[in-house]
Amino acid sequence: MVWANIILLAAGNLFFVWLGLAAWREKSGRACRLSVLGLLVNSALWLTFLLGSPQFTVIHGANILLVSLTAVFLVVSLVSRFPNRESPDTAGIQRFDERDHMFARNNTWRHPEMANRYYASHPDKRDVDARILNRPQLGEPGGRFYHEWQTPAAEIAFDLLDRSRPLACGNVAENRKPLSSQEMSRRLMQLGRLYGAVDIGFAHLQDHHFYSHAGRQLAGWGRSIDSRHRTAVVVVVAMDYLRMQEAPAAPVMVESSRQYVESAKIAYLLAAYIRSFGYDARAHVDGNYEVLCVPLAQAAGLGRVGRMSLFMHRVYGPCVRLAVVTTDLELPATEGDYAYMEHFCDICRKCADNCPSQAIPAGEMPLSRGFRHWSVEQEACYGFWRSAGTDCAVCVRACPFTKPDTLIHRLVRWYIARNRLNQRLALLADDLFYGRRLKLPRANPEGW
Ligand code: SF4
Ligand code: SF4
Repeated sequence: MVWANIILLAAGNLFFVWLGLAAWREKSGRACRLSVLGLLVNSALWLTFLLGSPQFTVIHGANILLVSLTAVFLVVSLVSRFPNRESPDTAGIQRFDERDHMFARNNTWRHPEMANRYYASHPDKRDVDARILNRPQLGEPGGRFYHEWQTPAAEIAFDLLDRSRPLACGNVAENRKPLSSQEMSRRLMQLGRLYGAVDIGFAHLQDHHFYSHAGRQLAGWGRSIDSRHRTAVVVVVAMDYLRMQEAPAAPVMVESSRQYVESAKIAYLLAAYIRSFGYDARAHVDGNYEVLCVPLAQAAGLGRVGRMSLFMHRVYGPCVRLAVVTTDLELPATEGDYAYMEHFCDICRKCADNCPSQAIPAGEMPLSRGFRHWSVEQEACYGFWRSAGTDCAVCVRACPFTKPDTLIHRLVRWYIARNRLNQRLALLADDLFYGRRLKLPRANPEGW
């Protein structure tokens, strides 16, 4: 028993020191303070057992009980088991019409002829859109977190993306080179990472991965999307953790626009690279998509769609941005099973509890477009963006999967990928160390 006490004293203290250092790096004061408290309680507990006399039967009994509970806890932590989950039937999925997207509806407002056509067939959306779209545009003064220096930094990034649209497609080299698909996928992964991607995956394209009709631009508005491309290359870039902790203030918009530019740069390069071998390829980047990036990233086995309907990457959670390249080149699909993330969403609901506009469902997965999947109430979400003057991201900040890729969080990810009990304990710890309810800033911080 003496040795068990010494080991648990040392292991516990080491753990709390490690936790404290990680919290300090993450600039989380609350987690730092709790780590110090944990260190003191752990020391006091095991030193009491070590120094207490065995004649004190209460102390001795408590010692046996705690050592036994620790042993049971360690054994249970290793059990790998989750209830089975049915995969959704993809046969009846209806394609999403991009014209229904809030960003597309926002554009119609600038082009009365588009607005007239859209609201003639969607009269139910006219009033709600009028209420939202009469608020100041993102990037214009009037939003709560508008910042005279930071907001224009996001605007120039979106403007650059807008002007870069011709780079999405390009000339295909005349002579098609015979390729090993394994070698090409390896090269694309290396090239993507070289330019800053944290992950690259491949998925076989299915009908429901494409929008049914284009809706974001005046040119081609309402065009039916038909593509012969068979493979999607999914590009993942990570957003800066500390900047996203400022949500919903201005730094989040600077960061998300910066990463949209980074992901677009990589997608343009990968598409051009594929075309140089004589195969067609198109980049899909912010404001210029024909495909839905979120389900494609899941299909490529890189993570899972979360309750807030964003893609949660297997390492960085929802703190990422995506771009996609579609091509007629056949590439082997990448695989990964991250169903445990979906089990975690069942019990967590932290994004729903913290969403300032209650746009995220707190209950079961809603049914829409012919299948059950997470989706948010986009009018409520975008309405909040227009009041805030930023792209919010409170759900990204609140999500327990949004953590830096440090050893301690890798350990937690391994732990919660085992079983539901581990997930409940980890969620309790996340609430304790990072808080269940986020404190939202009242004003923009200085700096970026
Ligand atoms: S971005 Fe903000 S408003 Fe939109 S779903 Fe997330 S938390 Fe809610
Ligand atoms: S905050 Fe929780 S419920 Fe929401 S997406 Fe993240 S893990 Fe899922």
